[in-house]
Amino acid sequence: MRYGALEAGGTKMICAVGDENGNIFDEKTIPTTIPNETIPEIINYFRDKDIEALGIACFGPLDLDKSSPTYGNILKTPKLAWTDLEIYSVLKDELGVPANIDTDVAGSLLGEVTWGGSQGLKNAVYITIGTGIGGGILSNGEILHGMLHPELGHMILARHESDTFDGVCPFHRNCFEGLASGPSIEARWGKSADELTDNEKVWELESFYIAQALSNIILTVCPERIILGGGVMNQEQLFPLIRDKVVSNLNYYISSNELADIDSYIVPASLKGKQGIMGALKLAMDAEM
Ligand code: ADP
Ligand code: ZN
Repeated sequence: MRYGALEAGGTKMICAVGDENGNIFDEKTIPTTIPNETIPEIINYFRDKDIEALGIACFGPLDLDKSSPTYGNILKTPKLAWTDLEIYSVLKDELGVPANIDTDVAGSLLGEVTWGGSQGLKNAVYITIGTGIGGGILSNGEILHGMLHPELGHMILARHESDTFDGVCPFHRNCFEGLASGPSIEARWGKSADELTDNEKVWELESFYIAQALSNIILTVCPERIILGGGVMNQEQLFPLIRDKVVSNLNYYISSNELADIDSYIVPASLKGKQGIMGALKLAMDAEM
């Protein structure tokens, strides 16, 4: 079968056609501008591709309540032109195929557990640390939704005692995204994160916040693994710092074989940037026909 996959991001839209074995036959990137320009381009791309279903891994927040009249809409977002956009129903109706939508991070998580290094896991968490911070949770083999979908990036964190930075989140002074996203690193240190590789203080503080968030997640949802992606996690020196601090935070309170092997418990995304589009392909395969 041929499936359509859309990774809908705030700066670009990746459109692809693939099959149930994870082969991608064709791919096109479209810049995200305003819906009136971008949506017709997406429709044009998929229109003659003979796809059986479309999977959409989309930036959020999204309405994912299947009983809601606004199911599949983008909710209130800083990208104002996209607020209330009926991305799911417009694409589904225009293309005339079944569709399935979830968050970009849920998509990346599905990509990793379906085709990546975490194949077969039924309980896992994927977190992206980039322009924003977001996370997807797989619990007993299902992506967790609840009343909306998790907003792990806005988890409230305890400040480091030395940290007086205000945070960049307009909603919370002390949230994960406000204190540890790429823009927060740049605002705090006056240089973009990729120019700060050699400054140990930056990564010490960054790992303090990431480890705190991961510890809370481990204690709350008990994943078998946590996968970290996003631009900031290109700083590979973060991984050992985060792992050490998670072990220290948990202080051996939880005993599990998974956690005992911390190097394979907290891992980078294995699909190297392809996890989102591969997850969208899996969403298409799971669309209700
Ligand atoms: P987005 O979140 O917009 O989809 P990214 O995941 O690439 O995209 O995140 C962009 C953020 O990540 C920016 O704030 C940028 O400073 C930061 N970033 C990108 N590359 C690196 C890098 N090599 N090292 C540290 N930070 C990076
Ligand atoms: Zn916040």
